[in-house]
Amino acid sequence: MASRPPISDASRLSPQREVARIAEMRGVHAAFGSLHLQEMELRRWQRELTEIPAPPFGEAARSEWLRQRFMALGLEDVQVDDLGNVLGLLQRGAPLIGVSAHLDTVFPHGTALETREEGNRLYGPGISDNAAGVIALLAIATALKRAQVRPAANIVFIGNVGEEGEGNLRGMRRLFSVPQWRDSIQSLLVIDGAGTDTYVNQALGSRRFEITFRGPGGHSWSDYGVPNPIVLLSRALARFSEVHAPESPRTTFNIGVISGGTSVNSIPESATARVDLRSASMDELQKLEDRLRECVAEAWSEVPLSHRAGEPKVTLAIESIGDRPAATLPANARILQIVRATDKHLRIESFPRLASTDANVPLALGIEATTVGAGGDGGGAHTLREWFDCSNRDLGLKRILLVLLALTGVHE
Ligand SMILES: [Zn+2]
Repeated sequence: MASRPPISDASRLSPQREVARIAEMRGVHAAFGSLHLQEMELRRWQRELTEIPAPPFGEAARSEWLRQRFMALGLEDVQVDDLGNVLGLLQRGAPLIGVSAHLDTVFPHGTALETREEGNRLYGPGISDNAAGVIALLAIATALKRAQVRPAANIVFIGNVGEEGEGNLRGMRRLFSVPQWRDSIQSLLVIDGAGTDTYVNQALGSRRFEITFRGPGGHSWSDYGVPNPIVLLSRALARFSEVHAPESPRTTFNIGVISGGTSVNSIPESATARVDLRSASMDELQKLEDRLRECVAEAWSEVPLSHRAGEPKVTLAIESIGDRPAATLPANARILQIVRATDKHLRIESFPRLASTDANVPLALGIEATTVGAGGDGGGAHTLREWFDCSNRDLGLKRILLVLLALTGVHE
């Protein structure tokens, strides 16, 4: 981790005492009260947001919605960058503690995004992942503003694009490539999904590839003997599927999509597969990638020489369609100490988690970051049956607020 200077004198206190001190402050009590009173407003916002489509690379309408909310809350320097990341500052000045939630969903354009409410439960695609996270940003900003809590360090609220799937963390990558943010954000708290029972201490790395074999194709009868891309691809994948992935550090792979060919009596002109590799270790990830490339090359090398050298040729392409760095927070990272101290204070039983989230980006740069849930409870993520249970949302929001204030430092 980069050694960044502590933000306030208060950070000299042990995290446990610091969290207890902050939780006792009058202004913080008022902020807790505001979080509680806001619940009906939060539900309305959460349903409204869920009904705005935000497929990967199509987040613009949500960015605009969030920009308007940030403006209405009176955040400073509200801005939307060219990708659609929305930023707003609590007050003027640096250094900064970041709190973020991704705006995008996995649902393609045209998905029916209706929401409904039954008791404390909200239903709708993306209502937990990550409407709950975005709503938490608004709840925290509102509570701090209404209770007039002025932390020692500034807070930047971030609604970012491009977390899911092929978004490939592009929103976070962009933010941390801009010196203004990369050099001033001391640590980042990412809010993703529901719950209070976990925090991320290891960034799960992943690499994704699209593998394509191409050939001349032809008639199944008259061109018999022409190399078949589906067969070549199948051989490569069958070989690769024999790989032994270690359990520790946990490493996995998946062949998730396969396509090719046009009809049963045609030799296909191409065949394509998409493969996902994951590991907690960059070394294991590299080994797995090397093995995948070998298996593909071996399958191609079995093509008769005449089809590898002459015309028409059989060709092969491996394209990277995703790359997320693996990284681990050191056990003594201040952000971990603060999360644990907060959980102890609030009597939350939580456990560390290995996951691929927006926190991967700062972590890989040596900037302390972790990911927590937005409170409440949720299920059915990435399906049309997704739900969010609002009971106990408060607890998750209090947790986020205390962690943020312990990171920024705050005085009565
Ligand atoms: Zn998410």
